[in-house]
Amino acid sequence: MISLLGETLGSLTEKLGALGHKPYRARQIADWVHEKRVDDFAGMTDLPAELREQLAGMFPPQQLEQVRFTGSKDTTRKFLFRLPDGQFIESVFIPASPALYGQTSDRRTLCVSTQVGCAYGCKFCASGLRGWKRNLTAGEITAQVMVVEKTTGERVDNIVFMGMGEPLANWKNLSVAIEILNAPWGFEIGARHITVSTSGLVPQIRELAEHPVPVRLAISLHGATDEVREQIMPVNKKYPLKELFEACAYFSSRRKQKLGFEYILIAGVNDAPEQARLLAAHARRLDAKVNLIPYNTVEGLSWERPSEARQQEFVRVVRAGGVVATIRREKGHDIDAACGQLRLRAEDELAGTPA
Ligand code: SAH
Ligand code: SF4
Repeated sequence: MISLLGETLGSLTEKLGALGHKPYRARQIADWVHEKRVDDFAGMTDLPAELREQLAGMFPPQQLEQVRFTGSKDTTRKFLFRLPDGQFIESVFIPASPALYGQTSDRRTLCVSTQVGCAYGCKFCASGLRGWKRNLTAGEITAQVMVVEKTTGERVDNIVFMGMGEPLANWKNLSVAIEILNAPWGFEIGARHITVSTSGLVPQIRELAEHPVPVRLAISLHGATDEVREQIMPVNKKYPLKELFEACAYFSSRRKQKLGFEYILIAGVNDAPEQARLLAAHARRLDAKVNLIPYNTVEGLSWERPSEARQQEFVRVVRAGGVVATIRREKGHDIDAACGQLRLRAEDELAGTPA
C-alpha cells in the first residue's frame, strides 16, 4: 500500500488514463483507500477485475511494518516502523496535544519522519548520529499517518514534520505528501494543522512559501547569534542567520500564519540571558512565536538541559521582550524521547531479523 499512498489524485488519474481507464476510477480508488480504509485491491469491489489486477501489479503490496510502540492510551506513543528495505523510522503520536506555539488544543498530533537519518549533523541530535541513509518516498511519509490511525483507532488531525530527517532536504517528496495529507480526497488535514520544521534551508523555505497548501513553518533556531548557532548547527555556515531571517520574512509576507521559532535549551551552550534577549528581538521583528524545548538527553552525547530556574529565567527574558513564548512540556519523556534514538537502538537490537 505504501506506493499507492504516495499518489495524488492527479498522478493516479494520469497513470490509469495511460491504461485507458476513465478519470473517475482514480476517485473511486482514493475513496477506498481514504474513506473506507481498504488496503488490498481485491477488496475494492466496484472496480473491474482487470483494473484490480493492473493496480496490484503497479503498486506492489509493500507495508510499513509496525515493529513496536512505546507508551499507552492517553500518553505520547512512539512508533517504530520498518521500511520495505529494512531501514527503521519513527513517528510519535501525541493525543490531545500539549501546547504547541502557545495554542492549547485537543488535536491529535503526529510527529512524522521524512528521511532515514539526517545529513545535517546538528551536534545535539540523535537523528544525524549515523548520517543520512535516504529520503522517504511520499507514500512512506503518508503511510505513517495511515498506520498510526489504524493502530490507535484515532484520527490524526495535526501533523508536525519534526521526526527524523530534514523535511526540506526531501522537498520533492515532502511537497507531494503535503498535498495528499491536505486534500479533501486524501487525509483532509487542514493546512494550518500541518507544520514543517526546518534547520533553515533557505532556498527551500522560499519554495515552501509558494506551495499551494499554506502550511505552517517552524524554524529550529537554537542560537540567537551566528557564533552560538554555528557551534551546534553546521547548517548555519551555509545559511547564516541574516539569510535565514530574510527567507523567514519572505515566507511571512506570503502567508497569514505566524512563524514559529524552536529553541532547544542546552545548559552552558545557548541558555544565557543575552541569547534570550536577542532571540526575543529577532522574534519580534519577524512576528514569530517562540517554543522553548528543554533538551532531551541523547545516549552517547553529553549535552544537558539547564536547571528549572535557568529555564524560567530564559523564558521570562524572552517574554519581557514582548514575544509569545512557551516551554514545551512533553509527556512520556522517559523513553527514548528524543527523535532518532529509538531507531538507533532498533538498528542495534533488531538488525539482522528478517524484514
Ligand atoms: N530537521 C528538522 C526537523 C526534525 S528535528 C529540524 O531540525 O527542524 C525536530 C526538532 O527536534 C528540531 O527543532 C530539533 O532541533 C529538535 N531536537 C533534536 N534533538 C533534540 C533533543 N535531543 N532534545 C530536544 N529537541 C531536539
Ligand atoms: Fe537533522 Fe533536524 Fe536533527 Fe539537525 S535537528 S540533525 S536538521 S533532524
